Amino acid sequence: MDALQIPASLLAALTEGLPSALSLLYRGKLSSCNYDCDYCPFAKTRDSRTTLQRDAADLARFVDWAARQTTTLSILFTPWGEGLVRKHYRDAMIALGHLPHVRRVAIQTNLCIGTRWLDRVDTRSFALWCTYHPSQVSLRAFVDRCLELRRREIRFSVGMVALRDSFDEIERLRAALPADVPMWLNAYDQRTVDYYDANDTARLTAIDPHFGYSLAPPPSLDAPCATGESVLSVDGDGDVRRCHFVAEPLGNLYDGSFAARLGPKPCPNMICDCFIGYVHRKDLPFARDYAGGQLERVPAR
Ligand code: SF4
Ligand code: SF4
Repeated sequence: MDALQIPASLLAALTEGLPSALSLLYRGKLSSCNYDCDYCPFAKTRDSRTTLQRDAADLARFVDWAARQTTTLSILFTPWGEGLVRKHYRDAMIALGHLPHVRRVAIQTNLCIGTRWLDRVDTRSFALWCTYHPSQVSLRAFVDRCLELRRREIRFSVGMVALRDSFDEIERLRAALPADVPMWLNAYDQRTVDYYDANDTARLTAIDPHFGYSLAPPPSLDAPCATGESVLSVDGDGDVRRCHFVAEPLGNLYDGSFAARLGPKPCPNMICDCFIGYVHRKDLPFARDYAGGQLERVPAR
């Protein structure tokens, strides 16, 4: 059934029982990117016109659903590719950010685009998770865009993949950014066991004090995690899962069937080594250290 066909009263009944605040990680069908990073595990694809039209229609349905809710929503877009080069993502973020019950709307981006469209965002709710890819853009150009975000009082974090070849560039980026711009680092996915030595780890931890969780997250099996309870993953069809890393569906967003399955559940996976996952573990210090900024990776000050 299409959400647009559901009367408002029925929709309210379907979503009864939602927590007072819900975080949603939305990942639609878009998978293409204007960059071509060597370490990219996806985004070597081209989206057909049909796929892009479907992605835009899916996203419009999600925005429509969000507009009808009464619960407080925080939303992070985690596209496989780059969303902000597509007008439908920019428009969705503008629309969502102006809804009174949307506390946060953020997206993971390579920050490749112009900034004039940001005139239309609500800076109280809008945020960006920005990744610098040194093989694709100059440090100067990337930093200039960050400074423009800061001038506009936009909330954002900046980070990089901690490749061995990038250690000096990581420190150059840190030095080029104002001290109040938070910087994160992801451990390189394809690393060997001896990829980082103790000096490397100390050097990287000096940039991102939480780097150790990316490098060696404590085993997650049976760990308490807010996903499935107050944090959910949603795909373009509206299928709801607890997180991007657990395949079991909880139901669908648009028929409300997911709501009955919400509740505390331990993690079923051995390892959770991606920030968008382990940030929601209740046994790790992220709810405190990133209070209010877990989705966009901005630590509490
Ligand atoms: S910017 Fe991100 S999505 Fe695009 S190629 Fe690089 S790593 Fe992949
Ligand atoms: S710890 Fe990670 S993999 Fe496990 S349920 Fe939470 S987000 Fe998912």
